[in-house]
Amino acid sequence: MADLLDILRTRFGFDSFRPHQAEACAALADGHDCLLVMPTGAGKSLCYQLPAVARGGSALVVSPLISLMEDQVSKLSAQGLNAARIHSGRPREESRQACFDWAEGKLDFLFISPERLRVPGFVEWLAKRKPGLVAVDEAHCISQWGHDFRPDYRLLGGRLDMLRGKGVRHDSGELPPESSQTPVIALTATATPLVQRDIIEQLGLHDCKRLIHGFRRTNLGIEVVELKPSQRADAVLEVLGSGSFSRSEKVPDPFGSDPFGSSAGAGAGEGVRHNFAELPAKLSQTPAIVYVPSRKECEALAARIGESVPCMPYHAGLSAADRDRAQAAFLAGEVSVIVATIAFGMGIDKHNVRTVIHTALPGSVEGYYQEIGRAGRDGKPSRAILMWGWNDKRLHEWFMDRDYPPVKDMRALWGALSNRATDLESLASELDLDVSTIGSRLDKLAAQGGASIDAEGYVTRGGDKWIDGYQKQLEHKRDQLDRMLNFAQGHGCRMLALLNHFGDPDNTRSCGRCDVCAPQQCALKSFRAPSARELAVLRQIMDALRGRDDLSTGKLFRDNFEQHMKRGEFEDLLGALVQNGLVTTRDDMWEKDGRVIQFKRASLTDAGREIEDDLASAVMLPGSFPAPEPAKATKHSKGERSKNVADKAPDPTLVEALKTWRLQQAKAQGVQAFRIFGNKTLDAIAAAKPRTRDELLDVPGIGPAKLEAYGDGILEITSG
Ligand code: ADP
Ligand code: MG
Repeated sequence: MADLLDILRTRFGFDSFRPHQAEACAALADGHDCLLVMPTGAGKSLCYQLPAVARGGSALVVSPLISLMEDQVSKLSAQGLNAARIHSGRPREESRQACFDWAEGKLDFLFISPERLRVPGFVEWLAKRKPGLVAVDEAHCISQWGHDFRPDYRLLGGRLDMLRGKGVRHDSGELPPESSQTPVIALTATATPLVQRDIIEQLGLHDCKRLIHGFRRTNLGIEVVELKPSQRADAVLEVLGSGSFSRSEKVPDPFGSDPFGSSAGAGAGEGVRHNFAELPAKLSQTPAIVYVPSRKECEALAARIGESVPCMPYHAGLSAADRDRAQAAFLAGEVSVIVATIAFGMGIDKHNVRTVIHTALPGSVEGYYQEIGRAGRDGKPSRAILMWGWNDKRLHEWFMDRDYPPVKDMRALWGALSNRATDLESLASELDLDVSTIGSRLDKLAAQGGASIDAEGYVTRGGDKWIDGYQKQLEHKRDQLDRMLNFAQGHGCRMLALLNHFGDPDNTRSCGRCDVCAPQQCALKSFRAPSARELAVLRQIMDALRGRDDLSTGKLFRDNFEQHMKRGEFEDLLGALVQNGLVTTRDDMWEKDGRVIQFKRASLTDAGREIEDDLASAVMLPGSFPAPEPAKATKHSKGERSKNVADKAPDPTLVEALKTWRLQQAKAQGVQAFRIFGNKTLDAIAAAKPRTRDELLDVPGIGPAKLEAYGDGILEITSG
């Protein structure tokens, strides 16, 4: 360890390691294979460069981007290390020289691009000298589930054995002992556990140290708000401080004064709260990036925001000059808000972005994490606000059906191709589809080897083995969307959910900043008391869970609520119980036809077990937007039905009759009375005086299950 620190100071000129660098350097220097997943800017390069110096010999680095290679080579050369590179942008003579220098052991580092692996004899030449280590940068490119799949990266797996010096497997399939082999490190900033597994498998890493770190962002407060599409523009203006709804109208702090409790790290709570309180109410929300799903919305929203705050649109439909102008103005601080489609933000380096807003559900958690990562690079408190709704999923599915159509449609496209080159226009008219749809489908076919498209856009048919790969891709896309939806619906700390998504083991401490950990600090979200109908549902959920622990939430919904409410509404109410500490959920999964299906199980907490008829004051629900006056907030707002029922006074003699009946039922079943019905439900029945099964089903708190079990008994009383 002392050696490594010494090298860090003398050869690299840094005083100390950044978090997790020392661990990675030590593992690799010791000869372990490593997978290192840390966010951009964390300092991953040092984690192969320093061990390379420590181990001696020449290090081989595979890197997919010429600019990254050039950058690293010039940095290393400036530090007095001998670094060379071979890629398509280099003169042939210099590449040859680099090869000779490598073979003679003159180089400390040789950088190569993955296409080189295809050049006949190249790997054999490199293998003449056993490298001190092999580094694979941007290793997610090897996985087709990753962000940026590069087919050439796939070649690496087959070539590594040779490069590791001990090349050949025994007949038994075993490799020589790990200790005698050159260690390999794979580095990336973006890899889910699935991609991580894929990288390890593809590269054949042995007994690999998995170092996944640094995804926690301590200065970022994530807020997730369910909104109708029609409300979102107003909500954006509200967050940016130019809305017409004053913040003081919101229900203040329904969760008590110390939201941090034991969840934040020792001492962190005060500091965190203090910092947020210091944010001036409005203008500190900028600079801001607002991500929108379409060009049309981009233009419209930018125009609206532009009426009160300097703002520009940014999307792929603008000319390159317009886009450059918008980006430059934002970087220079002349424009404080950019409204953008996903095309914005790659490679922009602006450290003081205070707010990132998404006005619709993104397609994947990976993309979402990257985009919110553009807030608060300076370490100061910043916000990420996600607006979403259940319809967003349908919109994504519509795009997915267009861009990733069912296999039979792809088969039709493949069937229309032949060995003779055709152009997109003729394909489009043959299949009666528009050209851009054909183009997008052909890209997918080509990625799986089912078609090839030449530089002029002419298409020929490829092999017939594309279906499997395509199907997997399709499922993967759907899975990514499901995970994003799960995130939005989540009831726990938002940062923890992200850490778990990436498999970062720093996942035991809540963030203390998100809408779940610190609801009263939300920029947009407000809270209200439940309506009579909602209260009835909440009570029914509690009743079902009193009967059984660890109940699948899907079953809970199907058995009790499916007939009379949407799944989304049910999830929101269940979520409110979780957020208010009465119910807890855990993730579970099962396998069906080789596909893993995720679901949740719910149980009562101790607090949930103790509570009886006081739910109304114990549960707060996410408020509507714009937030109502506090006085109105306790009134039920949803649905005529609940209003009609709840506004009528219950008939006292009927209530008494129902209570007597309930007691008989409870005794007969050997359970407590509230398990049959809560008092609120009895009151609601006594107010509505239902005469038919349909009318009874309309009463809050009566679902199909209760109707089945008790309907006839109740109707006998109410219609008597
Ligand atoms: P990554 O590949 O993880 O995105 P880089 O390896 O490019 O990040 O490093 C980002 C920056 O951090 C570089 O400018 C690098 O010089 C700097 N850096 C790396 N390690 C240290 C350290 N221990 N101390 C100070 N700066 C460092
Ligand atoms: Mg890097």
